[in-house]
Amino acid sequence: MNCPACQHPDSKVLETRAAGDALKRRRQCLQCQHRFTTHERVERKLPLVIKRGGYREPFDRDKIVEGLRLACRKRPVEARVIEEVASRVELRVSLSVASEITSGELGELILAELQEIDIVAYVRFASVLRQVAGPADLLALLSPWLSPAAGAAPEGPAPEGPAIDGNDVAAPLSDAQA
Ligand SMILES: [Zn+2]
Repeated sequence: MNCPACQHPDSKVLETRAAGDALKRRRQCLQCQHRFTTHERVERKLPLVIKRGGYREPFDRDKIVEGLRLACRKRPVEARVIEEVASRVELRVSLSVASEITSGELGELILAELQEIDIVAYVRFASVLRQVAGPADLLALLSPWLSPAAGAAPEGPAPEGPAIDGNDVAAPLSDAQA
């Protein structure tokens, strides 16, 4: 970006800070020493989502948020946490080299996040995603909480637990899925 004062093309970065999903950079012009701030956003290439019927549609962050809101309805999950989850899922998908993702794979990414946030929201979302048909399927969903094998059980909150701080769900998805 050219210096706003003298249009010189080169500047040095004095400071870089994260501002949401953007980077805020304090810069100084190499010619006139003028200081200015830029906001930089990573350009993301989002894959197409292959739906169950086989048709494809563009990745839609709003739909992720909508699905999360439904799953978390009347649960102690802050709107801020839902936005953070949607952002992480979007980032995760954008980092994938694949140009397409199935709606099932996308659902599993969301589910891995919900597993760390709220057990009821997790079960609601999973029961649709995995097409739960009866008690055996439901028990299988709950197995991470029911079998406290060393290192295997997720640190999920109790159903009546306090609202979870967003920092608690910052673990990478790969860990959550392990
Ligand atoms: Zn300048």
